[in-house]
Amino acid sequence: MAFEDVQYSMGLPCGQNKTTCTYLGDIAVIKKDRTCHGVKICEFADPELREMEHKSVDPNSDLRLRMSKELSTDNVNYNTFAKYLAAYKTECRYMRDGVQCNGKPILKCLRRHDETVPPSYFIGCTGWRMNEKFHRFISIKENVDLNLLQQLLNGLYEGETDEPVNNCYSVFSNSTKRIYCPHPHRSENTITQGKLMKKLCEVRFSKLIPVDIKSCPFVILISKGIHTHPPPPPNQVPVTIRTRLQELIHQANNDNTD
Ligand SMILES: [Zn+2]
Ligand SMILES: [Zn+2]
Ligand SMILES: [Zn+2]
Ligand SMILES: [Zn+2]
Repeated sequence: MAFEDVQYSMGLPCGQNKTTCTYLGDIAVIKKDRTCHGVKICEFADPELREMEHKSVDPNSDLRLRMSKELSTDNVNYNTFAKYLAAYKTECRYMRDGVQCNGKPILKCLRRHDETVPPSYFIGCTGWRMNEKFHRFISIKENVDLNLLQQLLNGLYEGETDEPVNNCYSVFSNSTKRIYCPHPHRSENTITQGKLMKKLCEVRFSKLIPVDIKSCPFVILISKGIHTHPPPPPNQVPVTIRTRLQELIHQANNDNTD
């Protein structure tokens, strides 16, 4: 995996100076120094993820795979928890005499008169009365455990363990605006969203840009040290300068090769 596929967020402390680079044949370069800003992980992060360090991004790591498994919606419990959280967080917008309905979410069944179609379920509102439209209505598609959903909505869910279930493999760039992990998580008998926590890092990056970039169209990136966090998620935003320039990357040890 090339360096540019990965989004390290970096910044202060930083600096810039002019120097020469031996990797490019002792030509004049501008050296820009940045510090890694680490990543954000979920408060329910898997212990393995919590303790993970890396020196460079390993393309054969199965971390990505586990991350996408975590996102998987073919897991019925996961889907049910997500549905419950959505219902729990969605206020009923119905107004009666200028006052917003304070009904709670409830599992409801829609039966047809002719019984030719099987009944369908939805999450409605305890405040609903005959002929009132626009109360909370959340349809339920397949892949939801109706018994589990009912237990959750009625506050009767007992959970499976007394400990929080730390199984999250989500990793976000430290520059994310998100406050919560998008996945539903379990802590005893509560389904909740995990807060994102910062994993800090002290790795320093140096970028060496030739002063005469036309005759030497290479940029060198050097990182020093071991990242005290899992690899950041893949980069979403292509950086234009990187489409024009080929980047050479190398790991520097502590012997100060510049
Ligand atoms: Zn150098
Ligand atoms: Zn999470
Ligand atoms: Zn309502
Ligand atoms: Zn780092």
